[in-house]
Amino acid sequence: KAPVITIDGPTASGKGTVAQQVAEVLSFHYLDSGALYRLTALASLKVGIDEDDVDTLVELAGDLHIVFREGCVRLDGEDVSNEIRAEHVGNRASAIAVHGALRQALIARQRAFRVPPGLVADGRDMGTVIFPDATLKVFLTASVAARAERRYKQLIEKGFSAKLDDLSRDLQARDARDSQRAAAPLKAAADALTLDTSGLSVEQTVETVVGWFRE
Ligand code: C5P
Repeated sequence: KAPVITIDGPTASGKGTVAQQVAEVLSFHYLDSGALYRLTALASLKVGIDEDDVDTLVELAGDLHIVFREGCVRLDGEDVSNEIRAEHVGNRASAIAVHGALRQALIARQRAFRVPPGLVADGRDMGTVIFPDATLKVFLTASVAARAERRYKQLIEKGFSAKLDDLSRDLQARDARDSQRAAAPLKAAADALTLDTSGLSVEQTVETVVGWFRE
């Protein structure tokens, strides 16, 4: 089986940026599992499905036509790379991600990314549920203040408006929901290495993870 590095952690812990760069350094594939939840959330908002209508959400998730290419993501042919980053889509993603049946429906799509020469997968349950036999499991954390600041910069760069207080409140609510849900709660795998990135640059974090992988 191809090697897998899993990078899990709370909202805006820097997982996405770090995972993409680690994948680049090693010439591995990259899986943004949160994007699958965001795509399902976006589609559910477009079609008008209730966030608790599990059966319809599962059906929807099975039918989504998703293509990741060159840093962009297409949903049924439309480039939605920016749209899925909106805060209301992230909040909807977190709301539907509590459903075990929906999580099940997304498992095969995620495991299909594991092909040679290797994969870096980021999310909440990459090391605990999706790739329990991963080569290296990393759990990234950062203070609420550092994470709110990062999310703020990301949103402004993408042309969204944002307020720091609102973001800080939103991300704490999302953390609470992600870690307290019954289905695949956010937590470090028993065999994960934890790294607090509050005071680290992206480069330092990437170097640490690549170093662990090469050890
Ligand atoms: O990582 P990102 O913020 O894009 O993920 C959006 C939401 O999708 C998260 O708040 C979380 O509830 C959910 N998610 C999940 N499991 C994953 C990835 C994301 O439950 N592996």
